[in-house]
Amino acid sequence: MKSHSITLGILGSGQLGRMSALAAAELGIKVHIYGPYEDSPAEHVAAKSFVGSYTDKKKIRAFSNSVDVVSYEFENIPVETVRFIQKIKPVYPDDRLLEISQNRITEKKYLNDIGIPTADWAPIYCPEDIDRAVIELGAKKYILKTTRFGYDGKGQTVHKDEDSPKRSFNKLKSDELILEEMVDFKCEISVIIARDKNGKTAIYGPIENVHKNHILHTSTFPAKLDSKLTAKAKRTARKLADEVGLIGVLGLEMFVTKDGQILANEIAPRTHNSGHWTIDACSVSQFEQHVRTVCGLPVGDPTPHSSAVMTNLIGKDVNKLKNFYETKGACIHLYGKSETRNGRKMGHFTVLKPLRSGRK
Ligand code: AMP
Repeated sequence: MKSHSITLGILGSGQLGRMSALAAAELGIKVHIYGPYEDSPAEHVAAKSFVGSYTDKKKIRAFSNSVDVVSYEFENIPVETVRFIQKIKPVYPDDRLLEISQNRITEKKYLNDIGIPTADWAPIYCPEDIDRAVIELGAKKYILKTTRFGYDGKGQTVHKDEDSPKRSFNKLKSDELILEEMVDFKCEISVIIARDKNGKTAIYGPIENVHKNHILHTSTFPAKLDSKLTAKAKRTARKLADEVGLIGVLGLEMFVTKDGQILANEIAPRTHNSGHWTIDACSVSQFEQHVRTVCGLPVGDPTPHSSAVMTNLIGKDVNKLKNFYETKGACIHLYGKSETRNGRKMGHFTVLKPLRSGRK
């Protein structure tokens, strides 16, 4: 298939879909978007947009019939919807990776089963399980999370061993939780990996991530890690991508502990916010890799020509934008969201500096 004859369908109509659609346009690939809202960031730049719920089979079928291949930009698409589409058109990444990453217990278990370490954890179905886990894990401080639909710090609470298990359990209003040992990390990092249908990979990172109010604030490439930890972080992401037979892009969030361990925290089965700088600092961005890999094209060269600091514009931050238009090396990206809300990702900007040779 010639690249210009491909139409890619993307489930999800947020900024990640928008940036993938923009990258697809550069390759002469049309994108059809499916999402629940009108006037969405991705719809503004897509060749066609379908507005409907992710469970509306009639609309999902019409969307699937209008494209050659389907992907997603949002991990909470029902797995059943992806399985339904798979009977009509190929979907990448497949339902297996989506299913693993939708539930924190399945995700941690899978990571541990393939030899990737995480914080110690235990499944929690009632307050008594918290008592048991606290004794078993033997830490002082824990983080209790809902297993599904948590993002940007939502659906989590810190639990100390002097706290009441019942109170902590009830706070999260869910009957399936995970308790994790609180990691005393040196820094948070991520690696983004693209893998094509021939198993060839392209890696970005490690990237150092700083959160503010539980929302990603800045991502810096390269992360300040020695060559051993850098290699270990990349190896970890490659192992995961190979084990799940990834076709597409995934982001792996990890903690670097003070004693030099790397612990995986979360898998994003899609492009990742910490990789937005690749649009401006690399000849092939994470979004172009996403489009290439799911459309059956080979991965491209991910080598960055610059170091980068990406800052998210959250809520009213977007009003400060005028300060950045004249910043040297700043690349501004806005997502076209008409309503500014607290905590809403409105755009980002990336400041580049040429990389000196000799980078690890
Ligand atoms: P998550 O939703 O799992 O990505 O968690 C959001 C943020 O909470 C992470 O980026 C960390 O800053 C913090 N966090 C999550 N899990 C842990 C943990 N086990 N130990 C320490 N901090 C954590």
